[in-house]
Amino acid sequence: MQYKNENGWIKSNEKKEIFYFCDEYKKFLDLGKTEREFVKEGVKFVEAKGFVPAESKKSLQVGDKVYYVNRGKNLVLAVIGKEDIEKGVNYVVSHIDSPRLDLKGNPLYEEFELAYMKTHYYGGIKKYQWASLPLALHGVVILENGESVEITIGEKDEDPVFTIPDILPHLAAKIQGERKSGEVIKGEELQIIVGSIPSTIENKEIKDRVKYAILEILNRDYGMVEEDFISAELELVPAGKAKDIGFDRSMVGAYGQDDRICGYTSMRAIVDLEEVPERTAICFLADKEEIGSSGSTGLKSDYLAYITGDIVEKVKGNFTEMMLRRVLWNSQSLSSDVNAGVDPIFKGVHDIQNAAKIGFGVVVTKYTGARGKSGTNDADAEYVGKIRKLLNDADVCWQIGELGKVDEGGGGTVAMYLAHLGIRTIDIGPALLAMHSPFEVSSKLDVYETYRAYKVFYTRG
Ligand code: MN
Ligand code: MN
Repeated sequence: MQYKNENGWIKSNEKKEIFYFCDEYKKFLDLGKTEREFVKEGVKFVEAKGFVPAESKKSLQVGDKVYYVNRGKNLVLAVIGKEDIEKGVNYVVSHIDSPRLDLKGNPLYEEFELAYMKTHYYGGIKKYQWASLPLALHGVVILENGESVEITIGEKDEDPVFTIPDILPHLAAKIQGERKSGEVIKGEELQIIVGSIPSTIENKEIKDRVKYAILEILNRDYGMVEEDFISAELELVPAGKAKDIGFDRSMVGAYGQDDRICGYTSMRAIVDLEEVPERTAICFLADKEEIGSSGSTGLKSDYLAYITGDIVEKVKGNFTEMMLRRVLWNSQSLSSDVNAGVDPIFKGVHDIQNAAKIGFGVVVTKYTGARGKSGTNDADAEYVGKIRKLLNDADVCWQIGELGKVDEGGGGTVAMYLAHLGIRTIDIGPALLAMHSPFEVSSKLDVYETYRAYKVFYTRG
């Protein structure tokens, strides 16, 4: 196990290289603030690096680089390795969905000549953190004629933003002062303010004129009518760009680093492979992790087995169910997700001896879960040993980390769904401060070491 040296940076990497890598990382975070955007930008990025759509290939040869897109929300990259694929694949699996606020199906209403939209939160958020912040709206609307309209409002300097106005402290004592932290802002109070100018249309029957004016704008700009909100996925995310944090710029502050930090580093690692790997390497970017990996774009779906089957068939020229099962059972993976870094302000929630610290490298997590390891993969000692040696041999800066004290809380990742398919799995990714908040904090050193860990796994794992 290797920790930071006395200079604060491990010797094998120059600070300049790490900072440059993180500048690229920040740019990508700004481009991909939703799972759909991340996939779209990811496709552009990997196509420029020689990856082609898998459906354009009838057969696959050693060294081929292909990608798959599932319903606009999963991106899977594969590099065909030299070894017989039946000996297994090396997967790095992360998720590109993040906690956020989704607009409800019928969101718009007016009261006191103010127009508001109602939201339903997605994933585990502390609701109060989302009030009195500038929020941007990202997403797609499917119009009745089937046309898909993309909307992004709030990211350009000249764009308007949205916000959930919190109650002023002067009047908060009774209505809010006694509430528990989960209810400082209640779910139904997560509503954005969207307008205040009434429509001037000369029609006496129209009552809610501010609401009507908003619908006029949406119709003018996007061809939308009110019913179109039902067939839409419109997500509110914190507006603004990823930033450096600190006088020394040693950290990155941004929304959505859980888990696009692993999405980006695992994608960069497979794209940057200098030579054809021994084993077939697959980078899998999943959706829906934050709500339990459900749905056809979540890891509980069959998509990972489906694309693996497609690769097996194209590599071998034939396919049997048993062949696919053998490939999966012989495979190994890194479940790439973030862990909680120790924050000195709240250090009491950790067993410091077993906790991750930001700036101390990528975190290897044998098990997650809650209480008595409930809901976890719990990697076997042999596989942990293998990964430990791999990281040590490559001089990767890493540490172990358990998610909080025993019985303090807990959480899960996609690891158990990979393990369910027979894939040997361990959790590994950087630690964050303020995870699931609108502004999560990572260490630049950890971002870079995570990238190096994934790269060595694809290459030699
Ligand atoms: Mn995560
Ligand atoms: Mn999460």
